[in-house]
Amino acid sequence: MKLVTYLQDGAEKVGALTADEKALRPLPFGDMLAAIEAGVEALVPAGDPVSLADVTLLAPIPRPRQDVICLGINYRDHAQEADRYDKALAKERPETIYFSKRVTEAVPPEGSIDSHPGLVQRLDYEAELAVIIGRTAKNVPVERAAEHIFGYTVLNDVSARVLQTAHKQWYFGKSLDGFTPMGPCIVTADEIAFPPALSISSRVNGEMRQNSNTGLLITGIADIIAELSSGMTLLPGTIIATGTPSGVGMGFDPPRFLRPGDVVECDIGGIGVLRNTVK
Ligand code: MG
Repeated sequence: MKLVTYLQDGAEKVGALTADEKALRPLPFGDMLAAIEAGVEALVPAGDPVSLADVTLLAPIPRPRQDVICLGINYRDHAQEADRYDKALAKERPETIYFSKRVTEAVPPEGSIDSHPGLVQRLDYEAELAVIIGRTAKNVPVERAAEHIFGYTVLNDVSARVLQTAHKQWYFGKSLDGFTPMGPCIVTADEIAFPPALSISSRVNGEMRQNSNTGLLITGIADIIAELSSGMTLLPGTIIATGTPSGVGMGFDPPRFLRPGDVVECDIGGIGVLRNTVK
């Protein structure tokens, strides 16, 4: 099932896309977090189909309950380009890099990435597969990790490179308003073989920049859930952004950062295209 959050007549609702993906059928939940807590089996669309032309899609989880948990340098080819850009970013680390991304309001499909003129000089994109936790996860062994996943979506881990590297922690440079485009939908986990091996790419103004496969993660999804849940409770609705492959702006020589007017598309096979414009 492909689930969306949408705005209809000023009200925020959740629904499931129809097979042709031109319409949706409403789900009887107040928001996506309630639908996630209810579980996939409880998601029974009710009511007549509504054309997508008559609604506005929002990010599938417009206001996450907690910060997004992110992985840094989790594709080998991206580790190499990050190292070329700044030795301190990607130097060999034996352990997985986890960091946090604040998101007060996620940017919807077709929404704007705020370039923050005056504050941000090197604005960059990062197409990522995001895992949505469905069941409370604590001390989950690797072999049971998949049972705790509700679904997957596309997330653009927009980054301000100067802020990211100027401060010792990446937090500020990753967490500005308008830095978390997400969507267009959540695909429930039952529709994607585990572990997901999906094409992942990004385009800027139609030009391919990133092109890889989510099967190439250094730390895989089961290991991420097992490791984090060995010490942290992961609640339903938790979003884990699994890292980005090579081809981000800082990876080019000279670097190719985003400018106002640029259109960024993050595309994961089987989920969809997340398209946003820099303003
Ligand atoms: Mg990232």
